[in-house]
Amino acid sequence: MTPPRVSVWIPGDQLLLEHPALQAAAALTDRDHTRVVLVESAQRLTRLPYQRKKLVLLLSAMRHYVEELRAVGYTVEYRQAASVGAGLRAHVAAWQPQHLFTMATAEYSGRSFQQRLTHLLSTPVTVLPNTQFLTGRYDPFPQPRKKVVLENFYRAQRRRWGLLLDAQGEPLGGAWNFDQQNRKPLPRTGLAIPPPLAFAPDALTQQVMAEVAALPTGVGRVDGFDLAVTRQEAEAAFDDFLRHRLANFGPYEDAMSQRSAVLFHALLSPYMNIGLLDPLAMARRAEAAYHAGLAPLASVEGFIRQIVGWREYIYWQYWRQMPGLLTANSWRHTRPLPGFFWTGATPMHCLHRVVNRVIDLGYSHHIERLMVICNFCMLAGIDPAAVNAWFLTFYVDAYEWVVTPNVIGMGLNADGGQTATKPYIASANYIHKMSDYCADCPFNPKARTGDDACPFNVLYWNFLLEHEATLRANPRFGPAVLGLKHLTPAERTTIRRQAAAFLATLSAE
Ligand SMILES: Cc1cc2nc3c(=O)[nH]c(=O)nc-3n(C[C@H](O)[C@H](O)[C@H](O)COP(=O)(O)OP(=O)(O)OC[C@H]3O[C@@H](n4cnc5c(N)ncnc54)[C@H](O)[C@@H]3O)c2cc1C
Repeated sequence: MTPPRVSVWIPGDQLLLEHPALQAAAALTDRDHTRVVLVESAQRLTRLPYQRKKLVLLLSAMRHYVEELRAVGYTVEYRQAASVGAGLRAHVAAWQPQHLFTMATAEYSGRSFQQRLTHLLSTPVTVLPNTQFLTGRYDPFPQPRKKVVLENFYRAQRRRWGLLLDAQGEPLGGAWNFDQQNRKPLPRTGLAIPPPLAFAPDALTQQVMAEVAALPTGVGRVDGFDLAVTRQEAEAAFDDFLRHRLANFGPYEDAMSQRSAVLFHALLSPYMNIGLLDPLAMARRAEAAYHAGLAPLASVEGFIRQIVGWREYIYWQYWRQMPGLLTANSWRHTRPLPGFFWTGATPMHCLHRVVNRVIDLGYSHHIERLMVICNFCMLAGIDPAAVNAWFLTFYVDAYEWVVTPNVIGMGLNADGGQTATKPYIASANYIHKMSDYCADCPFNPKARTGDDACPFNVLYWNFLLEHEATLRANPRFGPAVLGLKHLTPAERTTIRRQAAAFLATLSAE
């Protein structure tokens, strides 16, 4: 009997070598009767005016992946089409498969599309469970009866995967969490910051850079692109992090500096999110680095918490709250995003530096995303959907499953407190303490009101005044609201007046 003709469709953010759809095809037929198809969709690439460095990363990694698959004996079609549907229809018309396998995408709209595929292609389609996350990898999403907070979710992951546990199954070092040791600002001098590994673009990447530069829309520039585009390069970037930055990852996790965008962070999310690095394998290697004496427990625990705790929790929240999460707006914020988010042109030095960094690199680390960008947007009452779209547009590691719960849930607390139990808001004091930005800023981080008062202060106190009743009802926010009792009626009036005047200067142009 002739083996059946089978197709495997691999979306561009699933560049796994051990892809479940390849494995399913292998169980049904031989390599000669298997065609792997990847589609580069013009519609998808221009849905938003994306960060050009992200498009280079994605397209170059897809094309290198095609080479990787061909090298191990697959016949691969790389189709450039108006849309994914058009590319798949053309493939099916040419190859006439009896069956098509694919793996569930991480994103809601992608899964809806996959559910319609059998009909669209008039071909039997099997959508296999997604293996890029630990949550839902082997069983359905857990549906707890009680409200889940990150800490419980994280501990369950540690137990489930046996990470950093002693022989009795208890956490190494006697604690699940070393966050108290992990909140240091960067010392002014005396600490070298090893830059992340940079990769010179090869001929294929250079070709992609030229194509992306010619696209009609986009933000940032292709010049200076130096990210990894193959599995080997991504592994090398991870190795470099383990050797040179992991030891200081913990203590300086929350620090911000003009000296470096990455500091001691991993800069690995761009690779994890497209399947070049596996989260569980990474957590195990980080644990091995601890046992090999490469890094202290507080740093290794901090890193593993990000990978198997936060990342998975965010993915879980996304699926729990979609599709309503996209339009959630529990604080009813409607102000348009100010124009300086596209140019960096603002006198507020921290925002100026971080926005420019994001335009240039498509990257800023977590605390800058949360405590500079989102903090500002929250205090200024910016429309959450506009902030979400900005993050999706500008970052190299941006995909809806990770952006939307982080922005609308964690950063803007617009999901009714489902992702985070309190809004992450802070006055200038936090930025001043954790960064060196304020030193070169025309505004005074210590002044609450007055001409030179940092707008973060004016907006922060104004926010507390505006939402006093709601915040008072939140047990995690009580102490901050208590500070309001020290304000005189005259100070309250001044804060409100100055905040209104500042907000009136924000233009969407
Ligand atoms: C408003 C906002 C927007 C964000 N947008 C994105 C995004 O578009 N893409 C993205 O991958 N992450 C996003 N994050 C999460 C986090 O900021 C980035 O994963 C991290 O900064 C990536 O840089 P890194 O690899 O150097 O991370 P590190 O700080 O070195 O952390 C290691 C890894 O932990 C994971 N991680 C840590 N925190 C989170 C989190 N909250 N959600 C998901 N993964 C996490 C990432 O995979 C990251 O690579 C966002 C966070 C916030 C608050």
